[in-house]
Amino acid sequence: MPPIESWLLEVLACPRCHEKVALTAGGDGLRCARCRVVYPIEDGIPQMLPESGRPEAGGTKDAQ
Ligand SMILES: [Zn+2]
Repeated sequence: MPPIESWLLEVLACPRCHEKVALTAGGDGLRCARCRVVYPIEDGIPQMLPESGRPEAGGTKDAQ
């Protein structure tokens, strides 16, 4: 079961640049390729606020 509904993914957009966002590989966030920011998904609810965005991990230092 996907973490969020596909129709929801279709309507979600980055609050900063309004580009469409994509589900991260881990399925726990939504990534804006333009801003290089990941918005977390908490309890199945995407946190689509500008201040919720976290800079995309640029390297391997952000180990799980
Ligand atoms: Zn953006």
